[in-house]
Amino acid sequence: MTAERIDGNAIAETIRAGLAKQCAKLALDGHMPRLAVVHAGDDSASASYVRAKERAAAAVGVRVTTKRASDGPEPVALEREIGEMIGALNSDPDVDGIILQLPLPEGVDEDALLERIDPFKDVDGLHPANQGRLLQGCPRFIPATPHGVQQLLVRCGHDPVGKHVTIVGRSRLVGAPLAAMLMQKRAGANATVTICHKGTPDLGAFTRRADILVVAVGRPEVVGGEMVREGAVVIDVGINRVDDPTRKRGYRLVGDVDFASVAERAAAITPVPGGVGPMTVAMLLANVVRAATQYRGAREPGR
Ligand code: NAP
Repeated sequence: MTAERIDGNAIAETIRAGLAKQCAKLALDGHMPRLAVVHAGDDSASASYVRAKERAAAAVGVRVTTKRASDGPEPVALEREIGEMIGALNSDPDVDGIILQLPLPEGVDEDALLERIDPFKDVDGLHPANQGRLLQGCPRFIPATPHGVQQLLVRCGHDPVGKHVTIVGRSRLVGAPLAAMLMQKRAGANATVTICHKGTPDLGAFTRRADILVVAVGRPEVVGGEMVREGAVVIDVGINRVDDPTRKRGYRLVGDVDFASVAERAAAITPVPGGVGPMTVAMLLANVVRAATQYRGAREPGR
């Protein structure tokens, strides 16, 4: 079997075109949505993700303000500085969405800072209140990457309903929220979900049982063709830089799945790049537009 290549760029473009129309209407009503990105540290991949978000936002009509924390302070001082930035953005009525670009420098308490973001502006959906709502099946903001995965599946005709979905990886950003979403009794979900991690013995025994296999581990090409059932749909969330002296920038991007061997067995597969990545950015922008249309001026009781 040679797999259908799931084109995340094309699907994301369709979503962004819809968002651009919504933004144009909002602008006519006097408010262009605005996203604030809080960024600290010198992680080069993070810096390139921030630039990608800024470009994509500008193209649909979302304004972006990037707040860069100072370089060099001790973790305690840096955490205080970022906390103050978040506090100011929470109370700025012109800001609809706030994201804290992760990872933060070592020693800075990410959880404490994520919890400071106003849940009505938490467009990454990482505030504990929003994660709880997702688990309960009444999400305010669905985290962008798992939402992108679900949209890819549904829009490509591989609806998870009734399927056995195996997710490799249980992170707060990807695996855990995706499992919470796909097990809900609702359209585009209602799947039987198995979640695997480093503590899973004989990983292949679980991946081979999947109708839909989602891999989000952050290790280059750990899932090979022998771990995939013939005819499965494979979604590769991973983005890994591997050295490649033949490339001008000295590296190339690969997923967590060995594309060549898996494509021979799968019915459909996402490429890296060009699969989940562009969907993540599109779904983040969808959350910003949602914040601007549904939650502008809203506050949780007691905040
Ligand atoms: P993470 O927080 O490091 O979590 C990785 C998860 O994978 C953990 O649950 C870990 O298990 C599990 N794992 C690691 N190695 C494993 C192995 N050999 N066998 C089984 N499970 C294993 O990573 P993340 O934030 O979820 O990101 C995962 C990947 O997705 C990364 O490559 C990241 O760059 C990429 N990503 C892409 C997008 C996008 O837009 N395409 C967005 C977000 C992330 P334990 O829990 O036991 O440690």
